[in-house]
Amino acid sequence: MDLPDYAIEATGVFKTYAATKTTPEKRALNGIDLKVPRGSIFGLLGPNGAGKSTFINILAGLTHKTAGTVKIWGRDIDERPRDARAAIGVVPQELAADVFFTPEESLETQAGMYGVPKSERRTAELLAALGLSDKARAYVRQLSGGMKRRLMVAKAMVHNPPVLILDEPTAGVDVELRRQLWSYVLELNRAGVTIVLTTHYLEEAQELCDRIAIINRGEVVVSEPTSTLLRRLDTRNVVVTPDTPVDNAPALVGFETRLRPGGAFAVTYKTGQSSVEQVLAAVRGQGLHIKDIATEDPDLEDVFMSLTYAAPDAADPLKD
Ligand code: ADP
Repeated sequence: MDLPDYAIEATGVFKTYAATKTTPEKRALNGIDLKVPRGSIFGLLGPNGAGKSTFINILAGLTHKTAGTVKIWGRDIDERPRDARAAIGVVPQELAADVFFTPEESLETQAGMYGVPKSERRTAELLAALGLSDKARAYVRQLSGGMKRRLMVAKAMVHNPPVLILDEPTAGVDVELRRQLWSYVLELNRAGVTIVLTTHYLEEAQELCDRIAIINRGEVVVSEPTSTLLRRLDTRNVVVTPDTPVDNAPALVGFETRLRPGGAFAVTYKTGQSSVEQVLAAVRGQGLHIKDIATEDPDLEDVFMSLTYAAPDAADPLKD
């Protein structure tokens, strides 16, 4: 069989959560278009509430989309839901604890759920790959958090899916475990598994992913090779505290500005194109007196800003 060019192909995906007694209707995805090339390690980045989990849940078959099409490994999730699900393994954000199972039982049960015949099960191999062989028969509740997380990865791989999704895999995970986890993920990738990971740490995505998509407010803001994205990051901020606190960040020609707490504001400038000197001149040009300045590296939010420079928040119906 021909292998698909894209491990995941999403077109025009919308998701609106229905209103409940206590919450209004909420549009979480607003037309996601995304292609994940086969064989890549793909980072899905975005701030909290951007829609990452919603999107992952749709891929995993846990949430129904409102509109759009999604293909996993070339299989349309509406037309061939079983085949699509067989192509994907998902490591969820939450540590689901099968406290009454041993890791071995947990993997066997999972394999059974996916209909993997006994002769094709890889329980011992997976436990070994994730450094859990000596815990194969321990109760899951006796495992450390890190071991539980590795077990989740093993569970996601029982049916040998060509696509593995990791939802915030290193939230609250220590450095050592993170390294172990990544080395296994990289090994899987070398063996041909396409990896998608969500994170809100730009650094993590930077280090691992060959492609990064940024989602903001339910839309893909950018999706490109990591190296291309990083070239956009040649920016720095100058945080200006004026003598008299401001209510709105001043508009400065050629710079993006954002209000900070306490009547200060941040000015983002491109290091290759301007200097702190020019920023300060522009601030003074607005008749503002400067009490204090600080410089800082941009964070993901600044990257969003520079990529999405858009309507003010108040006009945005999607805002929480
Ligand atoms: P992320 O994973 O990027 O933090 P989510 O997909 O969890 O984002 O959430 C996207 C938006 O949808 C948020 O505004 C969130 O509050 C809302 N949302 C998520 N799940 C539900 C739900 N089950 N019902 C209603 N709103 C939801």
